[in-house]
Amino acid sequence: MNKDSKIYIAGHRGMVGSAILRHLQKEGFNNFAYSNSKDLDLRDQTAVANFFEKEKPAYVFLAAAKVGGIGANNTYRAEFLYDNLMIQSNVIHQAYVHGVEKLMFLGSSCIYPKMAPQPLKEDYLLTGSLEPTNEPYAVAKISGIKMCEEYRFQYGCNFISVMPTNLYGPNDNYDLKKSHVLPALLRKFHEAKQNNTPSVEVWGTGSPLREFLHVEDLAAACYFLMQNYSEKEFINIGTGTDVSIKELAMMIKEVVGYEGELQFDTSKPDGTPRKLMDVGRLHSLGWKHTIELKEGIERTYKEKFLN
Ligand code: GDP
Repeated sequence: MNKDSKIYIAGHRGMVGSAILRHLQKEGFNNFAYSNSKDLDLRDQTAVANFFEKEKPAYVFLAAAKVGGIGANNTYRAEFLYDNLMIQSNVIHQAYVHGVEKLMFLGSSCIYPKMAPQPLKEDYLLTGSLEPTNEPYAVAKISGIKMCEEYRFQYGCNFISVMPTNLYGPNDNYDLKKSHVLPALLRKFHEAKQNNTPSVEVWGTGSPLREFLHVEDLAAACYFLMQNYSEKEFINIGTGTDVSIKELAMMIKEVVGYEGELQFDTSKPDGTPRKLMDVGRLHSLGWKHTIELKEGIERTYKEKFLN
């Protein structure tokens, strides 16, 4: 990528897309094609074709997706499948039609089988059944990986895929019905502290293990891989360490300064017991995260709730 290459970040208003945009702007890139969901419905094939015809981007980061936590994934199952399949198929296909030099597709750690060995190596894809609560989303993301692989195979497109672990940071979703665990708990503990509520409800048993990466680290990794990686095999992006939901809750409780109790609501699903990424491939290329979890939570709490 040159500093004046035309770059299209699909989903540039979302948590991931906006972090990639900020990172590229900081690196001195200044020629962006913008779309937002009001003017361009990425599920609309003709509209996406017209957008590519008009903008002719040289590089594409495909960070647009319908996303959500365990509640949303498990409720809006048809939407998670349809919207994601349509968005990614339209963008990937038009990137091929319009000769995009390189495209990066962003997937998710939920593509791996529910009971895969840990840490999750890239080779474990399609070796077992998926976690039911996010199967529609995972099936869509697996299709995206395969599209990149097969467009590379048949048409020679330089399309790569990356699989981020659970992310958090600026522009996250704090709607308690739809959000992921980290923003949900930040909000719950913050509000409980303000209202002097004696306990905070944590979904599930607290025993599932999750890995968390700050979205600024993700953006840095995406930029690094866009410059340094052009292989068929997709790459995990994570930190290589995980914590239990209970440990996460205790950490957030401490950062917020809440003094009440945790109450586990076991009527809510736990989801996958563990999904820790193997980041050996990423580390061997020379990239490692810089923001540790505690520091990232402190930053996120300050930015969102203390300003
Ligand atoms: P997942 O990684 O796809 O399972 O997505 P989430 O981030 O939504 O949930 C991760 C884990 O945190 C699950 O075991 C949830 O049950 C648990 N969890 C605990 N409290 C909450 C909460 O308030 N919201 C969410 N979304 N998850 C929670």
